[in-house]
Amino acid sequence: MVPLTMLLKRETIGYRFGSGQQMMNHLLFMDDLKLYGRSEEELEKLVDVVHVFSRDIGMEFGLDKCAVLILKQGSKVHCEGILLPDGKEMSEMDESGYKYLGVLEGADIMQKEMKQKVRDEYLRRVKLVAKSKLYGGNLIKAINAWAVSVVRYSAGILDWSDRELKEMDVKTRKRLTMFGTFHKKGSVPRLYMKRKHGGRGLISVVDCVREEELGLCGYVKASEEWMLKVVGEMVEVGETKKEYKKRVQKERRENFMQKRLHGKFMRDVSEVADERSWQWLRAGYLGKGTEGFVFAAQEQALRTRFFRATIQKEAVDPKCRVCGKEVESVGHLASGCSGLAQKEYRRRHDRMGLRVYWELCRKYGVKCADVWYKEVPDEVRVSEDGQVEIWWDRGVETTQKMEHNRPDVTVLNRVAQEWTFVDFSVPWDKNVVLKEDEKVAKYAPLAKEIRKMHRVSTKVVPLVVGCLGVVSSRFVGYLKVLGIPDVLGGMQTCAVIGTTLILQKVLSV
Ligand SMILES: [Zn+2]
Repeated sequence: MVPLTMLLKRETIGYRFGSGQQMMNHLLFMDDLKLYGRSEEELEKLVDVVHVFSRDIGMEFGLDKCAVLILKQGSKVHCEGILLPDGKEMSEMDESGYKYLGVLEGADIMQKEMKQKVRDEYLRRVKLVAKSKLYGGNLIKAINAWAVSVVRYSAGILDWSDRELKEMDVKTRKRLTMFGTFHKKGSVPRLYMKRKHGGRGLISVVDCVREEELGLCGYVKASEEWMLKVVGEMVEVGETKKEYKKRVQKERRENFMQKRLHGKFMRDVSEVADERSWQWLRAGYLGKGTEGFVFAAQEQALRTRFFRATIQKEAVDPKCRVCGKEVESVGHLASGCSGLAQKEYRRRHDRMGLRVYWELCRKYGVKCADVWYKEVPDEVRVSEDGQVEIWWDRGVETTQKMEHNRPDVTVLNRVAQEWTFVDFSVPWDKNVVLKEDEKVAKYAPLAKEIRKMHRVSTKVVPLVVGCLGVVSSRFVGYLKVLGIPDVLGGMQTCAVIGTTLILQKVLSV
């Protein structure tokens, strides 16, 4: 036997069959059979063998899928087709080629035509998904699963150049931008980072193809099959698929973090952010546009006055258009503007707190709405058995006057003889840990006074979510103290959507 690649280069006469019939008892499945021979006689013998075998197992050729190809010195030679032993005729392969396992072939794989087909189909699918109303997370998943797989199938078969693949990635991003999923000034490496690391989790076509190729090399190299061993000797190995993946991910992350503007947020929060800071992103709760916008905000890619004055060098006052006092950066608008504190920040803060309030009501059997977002809190609510009271934004009376006596939520538990003070905050993400410490310190004197007055135990629980979603490693522990379900993702969504609304309103985008 001669290796397949060598056979193709010789003067060869080939018969190609494609047959997809399945045997009735499902014992045998035969598909896409190819016969190669060095002369017409040799092939006729092979056809006979196949014919006898097929007849024995009760299978027929699907003639419409079959074709004959005769090659002399590598080029196609005209033939009249061949007569099969049962009298039927198999015709010659025409110009449009022949699909073998879904890949167009003539004398050889029809690279150019097949690439165009793959490219068109891939981009058609990307566009369809990008246009859809899928949520941000699902949209990326759909592209990865449904569009990228078209290209993945061709990896190792078609000879893709880096330039061709990169071009497809660029076109993908253009389509995502066109339909509002990806900000035109957003970070490219971050688009391809994993969601659990704060990326969007899109699979790049370049990576997909190179990974598959390396995987294939690895498979052939490791094979014990004698024919594959021969091929394996011709294959050169560089890095493995796993090594490639790891290297590319690391390079992407480093590249992104180094960027002066794009990476600033991540650098700033790297000390305080728990890995669950990306919980909202992994769950993919947000609309595609909102998700893209939050990313742009984190990457300082929004056109704030500061951005326009310093980066785009426009003749514009960098001071905030709302308060006129400080420089108008994303951070200032999202959490530091005195002009937005009373109304906008308050609304976002209450919305996030509402989720926790509702969960507490449910836990203690206090009357509440059937879904959290329809809840309208009362100053005081009492459980049916009268043992638990839940207060919303109510001052706590004390004999000694307290500087801070109004936590967002207070839970009075008469059974456990315990008072719990819960306070929410949505600060600039870098400050989440500071804010937690600040809240605990702020309510410590009130807690001490209540312990003295009522002879009960007390707890102070700060629930702090950064305005762009960051949480500290203590956050989940605080939720556990309250004994309510893990609603972190929901609270982050409230904070992040709240911030998006504020930024979009002020920047009028
Ligand atoms: Zn301001």
